[in-house]
Amino acid sequence: MPNNEDYKEVPDTEIVDQASTDGSTDPSDNEDEFDHICYICRRPESVAGKLIKIPSDIYICQDCMQRTFDTMNNAGFPMGGMMDPSQMPNISMINLADFPGFMPQSQKLKKKKPKKEKKVEPILDIKNIPAPHKIKASLDDYVVGQDHAKKVISVAVYNHYKRVMSDDKDDIDIEKSNMLMIGPTGCGKTYLVKTLARLLDVPLAITDATSLTEAGYIGDDIESVVSKLLAAADNDVERAEHGIIFIDEIDKIAKKKNTNQRDVSGESVQQGMLKLLEGAEVEVPVGASSKNAMVPMTMVNTKNILFICGGAFPDLEDIIKERLNKAASIGFQADLKDKYDKEENILSQVTTEDVRKFGMIPEFIGRLPILFTLEPLTEDMLVRILKEPKNAIIKQYQKLLSYDEVQLNFEDDALLAIAKKAKEKKVGARALRSIIEEFMLDIMYEIPKDDNIGSVTITRDYVEKKGGPVIAMRGYPAIEGKGTN
Ligand code: ADP
Repeated sequence: MPNNEDYKEVPDTEIVDQASTDGSTDPSDNEDEFDHICYICRRPESVAGKLIKIPSDIYICQDCMQRTFDTMNNAGFPMGGMMDPSQMPNISMINLADFPGFMPQSQKLKKKKPKKEKKVEPILDIKNIPAPHKIKASLDDYVVGQDHAKKVISVAVYNHYKRVMSDDKDDIDIEKSNMLMIGPTGCGKTYLVKTLARLLDVPLAITDATSLTEAGYIGDDIESVVSKLLAAADNDVERAEHGIIFIDEIDKIAKKKNTNQRDVSGESVQQGMLKLLEGAEVEVPVGASSKNAMVPMTMVNTKNILFICGGAFPDLEDIIKERLNKAASIGFQADLKDKYDKEENILSQVTTEDVRKFGMIPEFIGRLPILFTLEPLTEDMLVRILKEPKNAIIKQYQKLLSYDEVQLNFEDDALLAIAKKAKEKKVGARALRSIIEEFMLDIMYEIPKDDNIGSVTITRDYVEKKGGPVIAMRGYPAIEGKGTN
């Protein structure tokens, strides 16, 4: 448990006027914590600039000092060579310090303390990496289904961080566990990697491969992915070197077919990424995305950075089917030529050879030794995504309405109807939020108007725009509301 004292809000500034209280000196009065303030204009030193200390512990800023001299000059006092005002005619100097209680002993302004950031303990610790089944169990709390992918990624990450943390006492070099994940859009590729990085508390950079081009051409050069990671690690090189780089849409940098021009955003990008994937010292700008003379540079070693590439690889299924059908239709046990044409989830049978045929160069595939696929989301999985993860969408809405002391329920049929609608959109789980947001708008607008409402139940009819939600007043049985559409 953190000590509550540590997180106590500190007022931003606090004027400490000791003499006006008890005239004593506070033992906790640490000079570094205080900013002196100008006796005349009351500005703190941090604003007014260096203050000039005059006897009796009075501080005056240079502006006020100058203004005082100017005023005296204008009044005709001969300042040159006669700096002691007590020598001036008709002027008697009063020492303010002679009046106890009138002159503050010291006037200081408490400096702003940098706010303490609450350190969140990572759920999984890379220095003491937990066994793969524990990593998977943590992923299970957030990512629905995709059991195979979660298993593969847990083992790969486990091996990767073991390799990173191990001291190379012997000659056995453990190969890097860079990954290539293939799965239809919206099935959770990015989400899986994001969740993993969050659980491990390692920096993560997500880049779209389509934005990358060979150095020197319009677009981001390949090393920009490393500077993104450095930024994600708050410019801490050591943290960045243990981070994860996720390159999405990797299928878009496949070799272009039948082209005579230089393939600056396809094959050349794959070529350019080889050394990064393997491990190289790269010079990256600190605090900026592009190199220029004004930006300081630093070296980042990519040897221990985990690279995960992901893509939907459309048409890859045809390549796999073709290979499987060909293999099935030859030999003694020849099968039908189109045996695999109707098979579902054919993607899970992918091999590196298929990926090479798709247009990825062998050297590139070779540096992503872990190849796995994610399944397309079924209606059932979509329903589970709606309600099961720790931060499931419907849990979020329930929490929002609970602030109005309204209970939000969803009928099972309603969830199924949402999942059906989402499936039709063919963008995976990404469609769920927009569908829910559409019909929740009226609820979120209307419900807080009436304090008597105790609960709202979303029905299938309401989702399908054929009826309204069921609304119950506090202490009364539920009634079906009017359709809002
Ligand atoms: P892609 O596979 O195209 O990278 P994303 O990972 O970006 O898809 O998924 C989009 C959103 O859908 C995520 O932010 C997440 O909220 C949700 N989502 C997708 N798949 C899952 C899943 N298996 N479990 C839980 N949520 C998921």
